[in-house]
Amino acid sequence: MASPLIGDTTAKPMADVVKLLAVDDDRDNLLALQAVLDPLGQQIMLAESGSSALRLCLEHEFAAILMDVRMPDMDGFETAELIRSRKVSRQTPILFLTAYRSDEQLFRGYDLGAVDFLFKPIVPEILQSKVAVFVEMWRSEQLLRRQTEELARTEQQFRALLEAAPDALVITDQDGIIAMANTRTDALFNYPRPALIGQDIRVLIPDWKFSEVPDMRNGASPPLSERRITGVRHLGRQFPAGITVSPVRTSESLLITTAIRDATDQVLAEQRVQKVNLELEQRVAERTLALTQSNEALQQFAWAASHDLQEPIRTVLTYANWLHESAEPRLDDKERQILAVIEQHASHLHRLVTALREYTHLSERGQQKWTLVDCNAVVALVAAGLEKSIEESSAIIEFGSLPTLPSIEILLVQLFQNLISNAIKYRSSDPPRIVISAEAIAGGWRFSVRDNGIGIDPQYADYIFGVFRRLHGKEQPGTGIGLALCKAAVERLSGRIWVEPTEGSGSTFHFFLPSKELA
Ligand code: ADP
Repeated sequence: MASPLIGDTTAKPMADVVKLLAVDDDRDNLLALQAVLDPLGQQIMLAESGSSALRLCLEHEFAAILMDVRMPDMDGFETAELIRSRKVSRQTPILFLTAYRSDEQLFRGYDLGAVDFLFKPIVPEILQSKVAVFVEMWRSEQLLRRQTEELARTEQQFRALLEAAPDALVITDQDGIIAMANTRTDALFNYPRPALIGQDIRVLIPDWKFSEVPDMRNGASPPLSERRITGVRHLGRQFPAGITVSPVRTSESLLITTAIRDATDQVLAEQRVQKVNLELEQRVAERTLALTQSNEALQQFAWAASHDLQEPIRTVLTYANWLHESAEPRLDDKERQILAVIEQHASHLHRLVTALREYTHLSERGQQKWTLVDCNAVVALVAAGLEKSIEESSAIIEFGSLPTLPSIEILLVQLFQNLISNAIKYRSSDPPRIVISAEAIAGGWRFSVRDNGIGIDPQYADYIFGVFRRLHGKEQPGTGIGLALCKAAVERLSGRIWVEPTEGSGSTFHFFLPSKELA
């Protein structure tokens, strides 16, 4: 009958405790064996017959079995034979305990795979030391088994990873000899995989070089850049491939992982993009040419129109003045009013046509000279020209820290002239205060002309730079061309102009002029 556990196992955690089985038909002997083995601190199970021992062997794995040879129903040898016939217990070491030293017994015992015989009366120290050796062996075996299982699991994970990769993955040694490859490699190159193992990777990608494998010592991380290379399929068909190479240092050697991707689609897409770009460039060039031609035609038209209109307008003005002087006394009130309207409109038309001529002239790619221009001197000149309106309005103009830079002086004069006169013209009830400054920024200078005038609604910030665009036409005389002139001048200098509201009240006009070297 199988006895319950008797050994003291509370001292150690169960995982460290090894099971031992003692089999003897004599219960006193069993208890004596248990007493001898107890100091080893393992779990000792007791069986009083061969069949009990067999049952326990089905349920437990033992590090060693101590077996009495002489037992009534089934003797030790028969029991051992049956234990050995089972797969789980085939390797379990069996120590036979016997009172008789007979060669026949010894041979039979060893035949059955006994590892040792101990003769009664048992010497406790010998029994203990022998069993201790089996316990140690069992432990080492268990450790080895766990390590082997762990290794198999890791390899399985590695293979799963290899297979899950979207690219062909080829693992080689430093010479490029293939040690492993995933199924995508067969699919991409049309080779049966076994045929690839042991081959040189250059069969697949002839330009593979070990020198291009990144050095990842000192904890460096692998570069993610992909290199374009030619891949060669089975039977020699070539295709564009993208490869990423990274080294894997194992405890024994250096392995190299090469990820290979079919880049055919990408190459086709790149070619398509290139073609579309080329077509776009061509279309832009054609459009630019057409626009330039139509611009030139428009400019010629505007120039001719303003030029041709000037003469008849001047004639109307001259005759109106003549009428005014010679016939004035004979005219009645109504006729005098009509004459005044004719004079007023004719001079407005004259101003418009003059401004238009100036504008078309400025927009043409003229031959004005680039020189070093002192912007402080330019503003001083403009202010002198506006002396009368400055005086009348009690305007204050602050400037003085403006740069000297390569530019076209006449354009800067026109620019400041229009901006300053607008700042005075569109003043609020306060006397105008105009601050002109410049700041060196990346690639050039940013100028600002700030006023405290009536301000500009931000929704018209772009609108007012067009020709004949006016926001305050009713209250103030003007042509609506001043800011269009400023824009044309700044653009001739390869810059840009824009307006922002001044904090508080008023507007600030900014313009950026890129740096330029004098030839
Ligand atoms: P003009 O002054 O002859 O009307 P501009 O092209 O110089 O023509 O200006 C266009 C319009 O922009 C002006 O009619 C005016 O409404 C507005 N404007 C220009 N400068 C300012 C300014 N400093 N403050 C407020 N409004 C301005």
